[in-house]
Order: sequence, then C-alpha cells, then structure tokens
Amino acid sequence: MDQKALSRLDRKHLWHPFTQQESWVDSDPLVIASADGCELIGADGRRYLDGVGSLWVGVHGHRHPAVDAAVRDQLDQVAHTTLLGLSHPSAIRLAGLLAQVAPEGLERTFYSDSGSTAVEIALKMAFQWHQQQGDTRRFRFASLSNAYHGDTVGAVSVGGIDLFHAVYKPLLFDRIALRAPRFRENEEALAAEAVKRLEEVGDQVAAVIVEPLVQGAAGMLMHSPTYLRPVLEAARRMGALVIVDEVATGLGRTGTMFAIEQVGISPDLLCLGKGLSNGYLPLAATLATEEIYEGFLGAGDRTFFHGHTFTGNPLACAAAVACLETFTTEGTLDHVASLVPKLTAGLADLRTRHPAIWQVRQHGLMTGVELRAADGTAFDPSARIGHRVAMAARTHGAVLRPLGDTMVLMPPPCFQEVHLARLLDALGLALRDILGP
Ligand code: PMP
Repeated sequence: MDQKALSRLDRKHLWHPFTQQESWVDSDPLVIASADGCELIGADGRRYLDGVGSLWVGVHGHRHPAVDAAVRDQLDQVAHTTLLGLSHPSAIRLAGLLAQVAPEGLERTFYSDSGSTAVEIALKMAFQWHQQQGDTRRFRFASLSNAYHGDTVGAVSVGGIDLFHAVYKPLLFDRIALRAPRFRENEEALAAEAVKRLEEVGDQVAAVIVEPLVQGAAGMLMHSPTYLRPVLEAARRMGALVIVDEVATGLGRTGTMFAIEQVGISPDLLCLGKGLSNGYLPLAATLATEEIYEGFLGAGDRTFFHGHTFTGNPLACAAAVACLETFTTEGTLDHVASLVPKLTAGLADLRTRHPAIWQVRQHGLMTGVELRAADGTAFDPSARIGHRVAMAARTHGAVLRPLGDTMVLMPPPCFQEVHLARLLDALGLALRDILGP
C-alpha cells in the first residue's frame, strides 16, 4: 500500500492518542515505514531525524544490532509466557540487572507494560503497605503542581495538568498539590511552602510521588535538588513513602542513569517505562525496597493482587537486558556527558538568532524551548504556533512534537554531534518559516 492509500485508511479507521481528530482528518499524516539508528523513514522513502526519540523511548537507536539480536534470540525460544505462577530467564536476568543499576536499596522488580501501570502499581503498593503496617489513616497522595504520571485513573488522580485532567475530576481520588518551580525559580521558598503543607497533613499521606528534576509532559518544567531534597526529606519525616516516577527521566536522559541520583535520596519505589526496552516493546517496572516487599509477606490478604496479562513479557525483557548491557558496552553515560555541553552551546546560539525563543529549559538531554511573542506574552493558543513549527521542522527533516508552544527536544542518547546540529538547524529553519527571521 502506498503512502496515499495508507493515509486514507488511517483517516477512516484510526483514533490517535492525545489528538483532536477533527483537525487530524484534514491532515496528511506522515506514515513511518521503517527506521535506522537515529532516523525515521517515511512510507515515501524520506528520512527524518527522530528528535523526540519516538516519544522519549529511544536510547541506543532504532534497529540496534545487540537489541535486535536479543529479541530474535528470544523469539526462537518463546514470545510469551506468564509470570503468574511461572518464571522465565529474561525476566529473572533483567530483575538482577535492575537491582545492580538502581539507586541503593531497590532490590525488587515488579513488571508491567506502560508508565501509567508502573505508577498505578507504586500507588497501590504504597497504600496497601501502610494498611498492612496498621497505619490505616494513610490514604492520601501528594504530588507536584503540573505533575503528569500517566493516563489511567489512579495516575490521573495524582496528575496536575488541567487541560488533560480537569474533565475527570469526579472520578479521581483526592491529592495534595505541592507547588513546584516552573524553571528553578524561588526554589527555597516553594520548598518551604511544600514542607509546611506536608507537615499539616503528613499523618494522612501514604506517599509523595514526583518526577524528579524534570516535569516532562508539563512542558519540560525544571527544579533542582535545592527544591526537591527538602520536600522528599519532609515526606520521610512525616512517615510517607517516596515514589519517584523516572518513566521520562530514567535511562540516562538527565546525565545520570536515574535523575534521583542527583538528589541524593533513595526512594522507596521507583517507576520505569519508555526506554527500558530501548523503546522496542511495551515494558515497565516498579522497583521496590526490601522493606516494602517484606510488608507483603504472609498468608492471605497480604498478597499484592495486581498483575497484567503481559507483565514481564519475554521479548520485552530480552530487549531490556540488551538495552542495559549496551549502556556498559557502549559507554552510553560518558557519551551523554560529552553531548550535553554541545546541546547547551547549540541552544544558546539558536536563541541569539530567534527572538521568539523566550526561554530554553535544559537538563541533560531533556529540553524545552518555549516560544512567545517578542513582548514576552504567550501566543494565542488557537494560533497553534508550536504545532506549526513542528510541522515546518518536518519539511526540514526532523520529527518534533511540541507541548503547547514549548518545542520539546528529546535527543536520544545515541545521537552524535552531527545529529544535534541537524536537529537545531531544522528547528531554526522552522522558526524562521513560521515566525520570521
Ligand atoms: N510518567 C511520566 C513521567 C511520563 O512522562 C509518562 C508518559 N509521558 C508516564 C508516566 C506514562 O507513561 P505511559 O504513556 O507509558 O503510560
């Protein structure tokens, strides 16, 4: 089927995520037929830089030889078997590897298949753990303003993005919202306010859940350990558990394997997804300390009654084992360390040339380039400036996906300097096309 026929069938039968279908059906969707390293290849044969790592999942690149081989080898053994009542080598090996690379104390892995399910599991584990400790008043959760933890109802309950979440309010459980910085401003004052709030309600809180250092889906908002450390320390003091959602920040994107390493706090629960399988297959994990795990030991209703059909799928686990091993064989974290200053320099240069760049927020490889009018006011949302810039970037050979008028750049760790330069060039040309020189 050619590009045109595929587009027609898409508009007729597909319903796309986070997409206003009314405008989608008037568009000519880009159909990706294949990929190679850092590039996506359209059904029409054109190549595009994968500037957001296929929605933040890419780590070592598409069709990576070691990950491909691991999945093929697994396919020769078994594609799926269950972890309910059985086990398999890839799930076992991956759990062992995760215990080695995870922050101290996180020895146990509970698998699922998306970031949202990893979060649901962490929330339910935290709640049930307290119940089983006899602390039955702890049924509330605290999270940051503008939080995004996924789209299932529990994850939405701890979310704080009105555009996505407000309509579901009647369905949600109560959350305690802690004001967080947009870009590392007033960190001490905001931390003091959050600590005070936690102290008021602390004995009702089961857990505090945070995206450490970078709130991705909110538009790449950022805080530093100056804000986060006192908040998490207060949570601990009040007897609440600490859940870190590293679905977006994990796997090297902030410069360290996990962002929480930069905060110097060991969480009780840590959520992973996205890049865990090098973005090949749906795989997520909720890591827990032995203390949490031991709270579920014993007969009858202490069991954690949760598990999805595809929990710990062998193909996905095999991809993830290869993905983690490749961090060592290719020195991925060292490569990221060399790439980050080049990205910083390229962004600074871009900014000098484009007055519509109001703010550049960058931590490691995670970047938000916020666009505003020359007088600093936000563009009218109906102008869809971010969307138009992203569409223009495609004509210059890069796939980007904006969040409102913030252009998100999520170069996968496998990018080389030449890819970064091409990405920033494409963004610069797209800005010129839409907003002028
Ligand atoms: N947590 C965070 C921090 C995320 O960024 C996301 C997805 N962008 C999720 C959870 C949800 O992951 P998924 O889309 O795989 O359910």
